[in-house]
Amino acid sequence: MNVKEVYCGLSGECKTKGVPTVFVRLVGCNLRCRWCDSRYAYGGKKFKASPTRLFRIVEKVSSSFTHPKHILLTGGEPLLQMREVIQFIELLDPLLTVEIETNGSVPIKMLLASITHPNVIITMDYKLASSRMEAKMIMENFAALRPEDQLKFCVATKKDLRQMRDVISQIPTCRASMWCSPVSKDRAFLQEVEQFIFEHKLFVSMSIQQHKIIWGRKRQA
Ligand code: SF4
Repeated sequence: MNVKEVYCGLSGECKTKGVPTVFVRLVGCNLRCRWCDSRYAYGGKKFKASPTRLFRIVEKVSSSFTHPKHILLTGGEPLLQMREVIQFIELLDPLLTVEIETNGSVPIKMLLASITHPNVIITMDYKLASSRMEAKMIMENFAALRPEDQLKFCVATKKDLRQMRDVISQIPTCRASMWCSPVSKDRAFLQEVEQFIFEHKLFVSMSIQQHKIIWGRKRQA
């Protein structure tokens, strides 16, 4: 596996926000979102590890927690290394929760059919117009999400908000919890997002990116 970094921090978004987490960041991404804040994961310095070796590294890093509970696989796009990701997850303690962040452009059918670990959460992005990556979204992915999964709309503009509303109406069978994650921390925009959710009666939770409030542009690792 091509790995960028493994480190401990607080999860920054959606239902695991604030939870002490072991971050496993894999290298490479098939998208180029306009406002991407993880460009350093496209390539550059990295190390290679088999799923078994990565498991040992994660065990070592998580030994700093009294009771490690949550592992987050992120990127880049971790599912570009799907076969190895599946092998890695199968090595993990079934009592841990394992979250996989994915960008909505990689088919997840094989992943869902293969994982036997009982506590896997998929957090999938829907890339809206402001990302310029919307054409890469695979609509079947969103219908395949399970109730324990999360669908996250990263919104940067008013146009994104209107588009989020329209996309939600196009996937009435989606069972995942839905989240709206403003890219900006601008207070006026955050207020606009909240007003939009109520005005349009959307059952969407707002997730403000906690790690950016705490760390700004500084990286935690
Ligand atoms: S999918 Fe994520 S890592 Fe890839 S370009 Fe978009 S924001 Fe960046």
